Amino acid sequence: MQGQMMHRPLQIIDMLRYAAQAFGQEGIVSARVEGDLHRQSYVQTLARTAKLAHALTRLGVARGDRVATLAWNGYRHLELYYGVAGMGAVCHTINPRLSHEQLLYIIHHAGDRLLFLDLTFVPLLEALLPDLPEGLRLVILTDRAHMPETRFEALCYEELLAGEPDDFPWPELPEDTASGLCYTSGTTGNPKGALYSHRSTVLHALQVPLCQTASFRAGRRVLPVVPLFHVNAWGLPYTAPLSGMTLVMPGPNLDGPSLFRLMEGEEVFSAWGVPTVWAGLLAEIEAQGRVPRGFADLVVGGSAAPRVMIEAYEAHGVNVSQAWGMTEMSPIGTHGTLPPRYDHASPEERIAAKCCAGRRAFGVEFKVVGDDGRPQPHDGEAVGELYVRGNSVISGYFKNEEATRAAFDDEGWFGTGDVVSVDAEGRLVIRDRAKDLVKSGGEWISSIDLENAALSHPGIAACAVVAMPHPKWDERPVLVAVAAGDARPTLAEIRDHMAEHFAQWQLPDDLIWVEDLPLTATGKVSKLTIRERMAGYVLPELRGDRGDSA
Ligand code: ADP
Repeated sequence: MQGQMMHRPLQIIDMLRYAAQAFGQEGIVSARVEGDLHRQSYVQTLARTAKLAHALTRLGVARGDRVATLAWNGYRHLELYYGVAGMGAVCHTINPRLSHEQLLYIIHHAGDRLLFLDLTFVPLLEALLPDLPEGLRLVILTDRAHMPETRFEALCYEELLAGEPDDFPWPELPEDTASGLCYTSGTTGNPKGALYSHRSTVLHALQVPLCQTASFRAGRRVLPVVPLFHVNAWGLPYTAPLSGMTLVMPGPNLDGPSLFRLMEGEEVFSAWGVPTVWAGLLAEIEAQGRVPRGFADLVVGGSAAPRVMIEAYEAHGVNVSQAWGMTEMSPIGTHGTLPPRYDHASPEERIAAKCCAGRRAFGVEFKVVGDDGRPQPHDGEAVGELYVRGNSVISGYFKNEEATRAAFDDEGWFGTGDVVSVDAEGRLVIRDRAKDLVKSGGEWISSIDLENAALSHPGIAACAVVAMPHPKWDERPVLVAVAAGDARPTLAEIRDHMAEHFAQWQLPDDLIWVEDLPLTATGKVSKLTIRERMAGYVLPELRGDRGDSA
């Protein structure tokens, strides 16, 4: 027997329409590329989004067309999120930090018809110009007064919108209609596209507040440092309006002092981003001896939040939670809020609980697959590759059958490439990315665990552990570190410091000091680049010394 309930298609534009009706006084504060702070309500945002949809229609954009963006976090980028999807086209966000080769690959592969770019990216576009697809139209996200001289023909965003009606007959789209496209960062091979739908996006947006219950309350302010140009800024462009929160958009300035100033001025309650950004803010908090006014909640994801970072923010009274997910998962896959029993737990217990990636989110199923290909028990001990299934997980890569074949198992589960354990309560511990694990003598060592232990030494400001080849053990761990001050601890001192938590054979064989760690296009430490830079490296035992290049 069928239920007798209405079936309304889930539509992205409805989230903004809802915000405009229910939370009209909330909206978006943007630190603009033009240098000033700009404010607009959700009512104004909806009206401008309607103007944009009219302009796109006038430019010939049809349903299913890809409309690309190369832009920082700001209100115009958010208008593109809603306007493009709302009219039935696909908003293709491009990560400007990718290499020229990858950018060109993505633009051609996606078949973009239009590209909207921030002023910052004019030189980048000029560099790409000779190889851009013919017929790609370009729009600069600024007003007439700020339009630059360019070597390409470009339209002006504000001129496009001016004069258009501020109401649009939003079509009722089937909920499986494609709405957004985001390519993975492609650490190996070409980037791969995740093509989101209205349904997957709305379901994900509804799920995010349940995953981070401490962060959401109407009238509060949330700062996505996680970019709109990658992984949908973890769903915040949708979830913030839906839950009545004002978005504070940082634009291009993501260093500690700039973030501190913006957060203080706007009384940001909750801030979201990758650990490298929060290391910068922490340095500023420590320099000032206080947190920005009103700041109480930090969501860290994209890579494991180092234990010392969690401890430091918590010591300043900021509640820290982790988010785990992937581009292919829209992206959030876990629930990071601790149950109330931890409110009165010892600080160690609280911190330990926060060092895991959180509990499985509703709608995302987990399967841990061992080396033998068999599902492992969720007992907190058994380790294997995590496979996932759910309504906001991709069912294939955009126009890429080969990558699709490689990513899914016979039962249709998506392989994350993360090596994990899951406990009986559904808590996920990311042991490592499969390609970052150190495999030594038939056993494996988690680079994340080693990094956490090394980072708790006061002489180390940042570090990464990479596996280096060894003829007998296969691989051995090497610690690459940035010193916290002038006095550099020796390898022996670091090993002693770490020995409490590890067996001797698990400790790093060498210590290499560097000025800073290379980052990926998404702001994470790039172990791939470190490994590339260490091509030809020989372990101390093999070169006949005791290690410690200090
Ligand atoms: P890319 O790193 O290429 O930008 P994603 O943003 O999709 O791609 O990254 C997804 C990966 O990031 C996950 O598979 C996982 O390895 C890692 N990751 C994300 N969040 C966490 C977390 N909280 N702890 C540990 N690893 C994480």
